[in-house]
Amino acid sequence: MTRVLILGGTTEASALAAALAEREIDTVLSYAGRVASPRSQPVPVRVGGFGGIAGLERYLRETAVTHLVDATHPFAATMSAHAIAAAKAAGIALAALTRAPWAPRGGDRWHQVPDLAAAVASLEGPPRRVMLALGRMHVEAFAAQPQHRYLLRFVDAPTEAPSLPHHDLVIDRGPFTPARDTDLLRTHRIDLLVCKNAGGSGASAKLEAARELGLAVTMIDRPAIPPRRALERVEQVLDWLAHSAHRGV
Ligand code: NAP
Repeated sequence: MTRVLILGGTTEASALAAALAEREIDTVLSYAGRVASPRSQPVPVRVGGFGGIAGLERYLRETAVTHLVDATHPFAATMSAHAIAAAKAAGIALAALTRAPWAPRGGDRWHQVPDLAAAVASLEGPPRRVMLALGRMHVEAFAAQPQHRYLLRFVDAPTEAPSLPHHDLVIDRGPFTPARDTDLLRTHRIDLLVCKNAGGSGASAKLEAARELGLAVTMIDRPAIPPRRALERVEQVLDWLAHSAHRGV
């Protein structure tokens, strides 16, 4: 019997959960628990870390998971590395449902940096008006460049105020559109957008808005993830499940 565990927290994970529910395939969707009220799902949901590689391996064995789909965000590198190791240890099949990175297009003014620390360092210099499209876990690092006025957009209102001395906070979980993001960037007179190369369409509105306004973008490259089977569409995951189910690989 096929039993799927989806590591979620992305639009792609929710789309896969819906497709599996429709096909009545036994599925559990896992969230890290970073968002206070994740959207409701058509499959059972579990929340919280597993306790490292060993914890995930135990969970896979105890709940008889046959297929692990890592549909986490491309920057969730720890979870992805744990998934590869735990699936191997438990002897079950793993695939990642992921998205191709964004690439600059005509009119884009990107400065690509390897990681968050390099993005922070690149902000050395006179005060600017910067949108940090990064999620609340990463904005604190920018306290090292306190001269700028930062625009932050979070899914939930934070329990503690961000420690950036000059900031504006918008609470919004989207969906975002290029027109709305253009308005937001204009209203706050932003001259630099800092974001991660998430890829996909769910978060690309801000890039279209930056292109429209001719704004500079500091683009943080993806972290490295060990080799794995990587699929980009839900249908490819369904095919993989259908073809690997009878072989138990
Ligand atoms: P991470 O640094 O790779 O993971 C840190 C730890 O969080 C993992 O070791 C694991 O704890 C737990 N964890 C992460 N994803 C989990 C999941 N889906 N289910 C259960 N436990 C999970 O991950 P992150 O960057 O903090 O991201 C956390 C979640 O937010 C992910 O689900 C990701 O898809 C989503 N997200 C991340 C970003 C981003 O930019 N990083 C953006 C949007 C959404 P244990 O070791 O205890 O198992």
